[in-house]
Amino acid sequence: MTTLTASQPTVSKAKKAPAYQSVNPYNGKTIKTFKTLSNKQLEGKLDLAARCFETWRHASYAERAVIMAKAAAILHAKADEFAHTMTLEMGKRINEARGEVEFSSDILGYYAKNAERFLAPLKLNPTIGEAHIESSPLGVIFCVEPWNFPYYQLARVAGPHLMAGNVVVVKHAGCVPQCAIAFEKLWIEAGAPVGLYTNLLISHRQSDHVVDDPRIKGVALTGSVAAGRSIAARAGKNLKISSMELGGSDAFIVLEDADLEHTVKWAVWGRMYNTGQTCCAAKRFIVIDKLADKFLEKFTAALAALKPGDPMDEKTTLGPLSTESALVDLLKQVDVAVAKGAKVLLGGKRIERPGAFMEPTILTDIKPENPAFRDEFFGPVAMFFRVKDEDAAVALANDSDFGLGGSVFTQDVARGKRVASRIETGMMFVNNISWSDAELPFGGIKNSGYGRELGDMGIQEFVNKKLVRSGVIEAPV
Ligand code: NAP
Repeated sequence: MTTLTASQPTVSKAKKAPAYQSVNPYNGKTIKTFKTLSNKQLEGKLDLAARCFETWRHASYAERAVIMAKAAAILHAKADEFAHTMTLEMGKRINEARGEVEFSSDILGYYAKNAERFLAPLKLNPTIGEAHIESSPLGVIFCVEPWNFPYYQLARVAGPHLMAGNVVVVKHAGCVPQCAIAFEKLWIEAGAPVGLYTNLLISHRQSDHVVDDPRIKGVALTGSVAAGRSIAARAGKNLKISSMELGGSDAFIVLEDADLEHTVKWAVWGRMYNTGQTCCAAKRFIVIDKLADKFLEKFTAALAALKPGDPMDEKTTLGPLSTESALVDLLKQVDVAVAKGAKVLLGGKRIERPGAFMEPTILTDIKPENPAFRDEFFGPVAMFFRVKDEDAAVALANDSDFGLGGSVFTQDVARGKRVASRIETGMMFVNNISWSDAELPFGGIKNSGYGRELGDMGIQEFVNKKLVRSGVIEAPV
């Protein structure tokens, strides 16, 4: 069995280790820096996780649910504390941060309540004899998670996979180490056995070794397409099951009969929630000509009215981006789009004040040859397209390498559902973009990845679906 040992090359020798660093994006001040684990420390944590699995796999659903429900209750009770750390580390506005903590608590509570039902044996009906499918856990699941929802992303993997009887080891993003550590402590406080939930402050190189490690039985990533290609390839080489929740460039389709007031409110929320740093945010606004001018006028005015400020202040309407480098990259992306022919209708620049603030931005005239046409803008940048009719809207929405979500606005709900059926994505919303609910499966197709998190489907990703057939059936002669 290959394991990580101190004698294997460390990343610090091969390339610069990624910094696990809390930097407040509101003012650029470094709060705290953390060291990555040594290979020896990592080996010890994987060993504990593997050992924990050997007992946790035999715990009853009721026993698992006690710890899960306790973790949910702690999150709820300490929502302010958890939210504060998140806002400090990645700049999420405090109200949104509190909402995320409460939602994470709901997800854990949901799986505590429903896991046994979701994984109950399934009776089949063969023509001869009896058969059923039973679900059993796989082992240690390696989860790699992004900074944009520092707790919700962790709850999305911990809730279902721990209730299924797996254990998890988690590599969180480099810029949210305090959130990562706080979430690990949550499980200790909830009474979890050692090794049930393990936070790993590790480099990409060490992450590759973890994927290779035979004790790891599955890999779940939420992140960029580039990370997806790298980690899915590694998992595939090891013939390990994986789920990939990657980026998106979701269409927000406005048909000519949409209720404008209702639609513009969702357009603003859909683009600006979490300062635009959401995988399934509305990114391409596709509006039928007849309503386009009116929509654009109201949408532009609403974005222009947002006021930058301290994300800890509940009255702030525009927070900073998560890091200085996220801002610099996004500004470069806008510059490239403009150099290739896009027009800036609103914003496009850094806001001249301390912190990683960007003006809410609207780009128009984006032709298919422009790299922006196929890019994901992970921040407050909306792409606007005017189309002549419904067919043109559907064709444009589908002309994307991504396939995560999307939405359509119309007062004719039946028409909205028909349009939703024609869009090639994993999720569609009619007259809302109410993206995520513990009960509803979340995930995409194409470059947005594969597999689903949340709901019944989310808990089925890392379990063995074993067929058991019984009956005295004569052997064929
Ligand atoms: P990212 O750079 O891919 O990072 C995500 C996580 O992957 C981080 O923990 C990162 O660690 C790690 N990572 C990246 N490359 C890796 C590699 N080669 N080996 C091991 N670990 C690696 O993504 P991001 O820019 O932080 O997050 C934004 C992206 O995530 C967007 O594209 C967004 O759409 C997507 N996202 C998707 C969903 C969904 O459910 N579909 C949800 C949220 C976000 P380091 O920080 O140490 O590099």
